[in-house]
Amino acid sequence: MSEHPLNNRRALVTGASRGIGQAIALALAEAGANVVVSARSLPPLEEVATAIRQMGRECLVVPCDVADPQQVATLASTIIEAWGGVDILVNNAGVAGSHKFLNHPDELWHRMLAVNLTGVYYVTKALVPPMVSQKWGRIINIASIAGKTGARYIAAYSASKHGVLGFTRSLAMELVDYQITVNAICPGYVETPMTETNIANIAARTGMSPAQVRHTLAHMSPQGRLIEPEEVAALTVYLARDEARGITGQAINVDGGTVQW
Ligand code: NAP
Repeated sequence: MSEHPLNNRRALVTGASRGIGQAIALALAEAGANVVVSARSLPPLEEVATAIRQMGRECLVVPCDVADPQQVATLASTIIEAWGGVDILVNNAGVAGSHKFLNHPDELWHRMLAVNLTGVYYVTKALVPPMVSQKWGRIINIASIAGKTGARYIAAYSASKHGVLGFTRSLAMELVDYQITVNAICPGYVETPMTETNIANIAARTGMSPAQVRHTLAHMSPQGRLIEPEEVAALTVYLARDEARGITGQAINVDGGTVQW
């Protein structure tokens, strides 16, 4: 296997400033890709960019809220002007939130769908045309096992991630003639700032200690542990490779065996 299988590939990772997105951006660069890193807040992106440039790769930093179509249009035009487009698009930006359904705030529903689902739609729509023209592309959507199963209090989050899987499967069929694969990755609980916030929220609501909550979340997986961001990143790199051209329309779990479909 080549040491740098993604040499000269151009990638965009949304939500690249921390957690899973940061691990993916670094892993793509390690595999040889030049990477555009995006998220809303600039300073942490600059740190990721420095690490990528230290590997000898090119890195563009373009702040963008994926829920805002105008900002996404600017993101896409900036990338297309600088690099002509991307070969690998990783839709990773996402937000989590939970609430009982009985008095569910509409704002929470709209925010989950706007960022987690409509954001994926906006970014993909803006960057697919150059992929279609070049007849090669990889679209990798970071969904969740909450895109395959339901759980208490996460109706909005789960609906948004189920939506990402429907989008992934349909787009895969539509782009099949252009050597563009479209896949989703469905992680279980991952060691990231998002999970740290979830743990703090659950602890505050239930009176459990953060350590007890962490233990409970870890043991929702048969492996009794949280997933590391690098495990999600390694699968992303694989899906971006030429060798993965036969994998499309899939939703692959990285969850220690929690969900088996
Ligand atoms: P995280 O630690 O909270 O990081 C989220 C990233 O997304 C940050 O870079 C954040 O930067 C960016 N972001 C948030 N809202 C955005 C917006 N509106 N526009 C653009 N960027 C935005 O989350 P994570 O745990 O790494 O999760 C990454 C993805 O994996 C999400 O889609 C999440 O749903 C999914 N996932 C996570 C887990 C888990 O257990 N952690 C499990 C399954 C799936 P800014 O705040 O600066 O914008």
